[in-house]
Amino acid sequence: MPMHTFSFISLGCAKNRVDAEMVIGELTHRGLQLVAEEKDAPLVIINTCAFLQEARQEALDTVRHFIEAKKSGQRRLQHVVVMGCLAQYVKNFGLEPGVLQEVDATVSLDEAHQIPERIGSLLGLTWKGNPSNPAASPHRRFLTTSPHSVNIKITDGCENFCSYCLIPTIRGPLKSKAMEEVVAEVQAVERLGAKEINLIGQDISLYGVDRYGKPALLQLLQQLVTSISSVSWIRLLYVHPARVDRQLVEFMAREPLLCKYLDLPIQHVNTRLLNRMGRKTTREDLIQVYELLRTGVPGIALRTTVMTGYPGESEAAFQELLEFLRAYPFERLGSFAYSPEAGTRAYASPGRVPPEIAGARQRMVMEQQKAISRKRNRSLLGARTPALIESYNPGKRKAYGRIYAQAPEVDGKIIIPGPRSLRPGMMMPVRITGVGSYDFMGERLQ
Ligand code: SF4
Repeated sequence: MPMHTFSFISLGCAKNRVDAEMVIGELTHRGLQLVAEEKDAPLVIINTCAFLQEARQEALDTVRHFIEAKKSGQRRLQHVVVMGCLAQYVKNFGLEPGVLQEVDATVSLDEAHQIPERIGSLLGLTWKGNPSNPAASPHRRFLTTSPHSVNIKITDGCENFCSYCLIPTIRGPLKSKAMEEVVAEVQAVERLGAKEINLIGQDISLYGVDRYGKPALLQLLQQLVTSISSVSWIRLLYVHPARVDRQLVEFMAREPLLCKYLDLPIQHVNTRLLNRMGRKTTREDLIQVYELLRTGVPGIALRTTVMTGYPGESEAAFQELLEFLRAYPFERLGSFAYSPEAGTRAYASPGRVPPEIAGARQRMVMEQQKAISRKRNRSLLGARTPALIESYNPGKRKAYGRIYAQAPEVDGKIIIPGPRSLRPGMMMPVRITGVGSYDFMGERLQ
């Protein structure tokens, strides 16, 4: 039987990428072969994002590109399959499928378990056994990133229902993985050489509410740290500030395997706006959480996300946001301008801010943050800390890695001059010798 090959494109966030890796794992387990070059594959699978209009546009453009490539007959391409959030979005909102009408299969999130069978029937293959959900076989996951830093998705969906967010509508209610499944998944990637585990989900502080009747992130962490032996760091990404409590902070402070880093999206600081956003926090709550983390976990690096131009954001409220971020500085910050999304509560909210003002405010936040990040980074000059090496450039004789204060993909790098023996996956002590707004320079310590 000739080998069937396929290529895969995953758009959107790290959580989407984990879904993609599960599907790739399931298909390769069934004998298909993944190829890196899209032009060489007769089948392309596109995993889409639909969080914002911009993301939907990117997904549609990508699909259109492959439909045209298929029609042109210049490549081997015969089948285009679309999965993920856009497929679910179109289904949930009963939208005209548009270009999706021209693809060979569209598999929404609630049909994800059918992916292997749908693809099998496109290729004329019959697979024995019951249909299996790729997400139910995490041990088959195919890592598309370095095996040294692995994202583990512990929840899917969300039930915070922030007024501007489509995620609960697209991804559905919260679904937490069982603790023993998470532990098994982490142990499996540890055997492949994982040094850094990033726990991800739309909001991981909700972990367990659906399955155990109460938040259980702390219990999960307690289990994890006793179940691993060669992982160096567990990093927590996307923790809602309303659910950071003293026990979690104390655990972070005393447990060496927990990275002294927290991604804590606050979105805004003006209490009236936070209320309208449905964020379950006030300005005072945010100050309390901030102080709790700063005093409870000395040296912690904090990342946050803020949104500008939410309906009703006056100039004074925006200035309050800027002032807050100076008074309570975060080491890292991401921001985005509010985008009105049909299907969210905020869509009908009065007081829309013109997009050019929302965009200008977003740029102002980032401009201010550059100086804040540089100043915070400077406080690490001379510090000794472990660094995880991720790549080496023999021409420049430099290694590139990250320290505890830098999450993968979003937070910059540490650059360490040194010999070829610095290999990806090494965890080694360094001294910080230089800082910028995003990157560090370091020297290797013996
Ligand atoms: S917590 Fe995040 S994913 Fe959940 S509704 Fe709010 S913004 Fe959306």
